[in-house]
Amino acid sequence: MRILNALAGLALMTALSLTGCRTNEATGRSQLIVLSHEQEIALGEEAMPELIKEYGGEVPDAVLREYVSEVGGRLTPHTEGDNPNNPWEFTLLDSDVINAFALPGGKVFMSRGLMERMTNEAQLAGVLGHEIGHVTAQHVNERMSQAIGLQIGVTAAAIGTRNSDSVAKYIPTIVGVGGQGFLLKFSRDQESEADHLGMRYMARAGYNPRAQMQVMQILLDAMNEGGGATAPEFLSTHPYPDTRIERIREDMRNIYSNADNNLNLSFHEERFQRIAVPRLEALARERKKADATGGERDMFAALLAHPGTWCAHCRKLEVK
Ligand SMILES: [Zn+2]
Repeated sequence: MRILNALAGLALMTALSLTGCRTNEATGRSQLIVLSHEQEIALGEEAMPELIKEYGGEVPDAVLREYVSEVGGRLTPHTEGDNPNNPWEFTLLDSDVINAFALPGGKVFMSRGLMERMTNEAQLAGVLGHEIGHVTAQHVNERMSQAIGLQIGVTAAAIGTRNSDSVAKYIPTIVGVGGQGFLLKFSRDQESEADHLGMRYMARAGYNPRAQMQVMQILLDAMNEGGGATAPEFLSTHPYPDTRIERIREDMRNIYSNADNNLNLSFHEERFQRIAVPRLEALARERKKADATGGERDMFAALLAHPGTWCAHCRKLEVK
């Protein structure tokens, strides 16, 4: 209920600051928009450090970080209207959870946990393309106008002034703990729209859009592990896997029916296996080593906390 508390009484201000109704260049849909494009960018830039911190920082491997940025950078020139000029940034978070999300204006995040399950570069392009789709379709902005419709209200007037004092206090509402904020949870149609746009950008950049279906399989496999007890976090920020799969299949049949025979569309498996996989494995080994060292450190700390059990005569620890 933090959202309601934070936003109570602010509906009027927001209603006054509505930017209005206009046609989105990526989707062709008419949308009710709260934030101007400049406000979207300011919001994304303000919230970015907060989110990176919440997910344990960036992955400590410059080549991996650069690789993810490169793949994202292959997609963004194919976005519509003025979107290629957004201050796009792609961040690989050093987190075991399986998730990806984007902030308005062009800040895209993906967890190491999700990347570890991928087998080719087109899958990486699929996840980044989906997130880029949320940005170009202005889904958060749309969610905000829906929130106003629900009389929850958001002080959009405060967001977007580059004065961090006024913007910062709304970040928890938008981003929430672990990116679980109200405004980062999308509707069924928004999810499928992001897939649809992601596949468009993938195909334009030379990736086989079938990889978007492979991504869904990765998520379903993760969901079914351990008897389906723990669903990947991705499915709470990007719900409705069944609808998504159905619509991706439809796009494959109708728009990309020839994708598998098109030599210009590739999965780039070799590149992913050569660049990403060994580095992800090396990071996993380092984490394991650090865990073991941490264990030893704990043992010494426990011993120091009980100096009386050390026998100076026989130079042994007396365990009682
Ligand atoms: Zn999504």
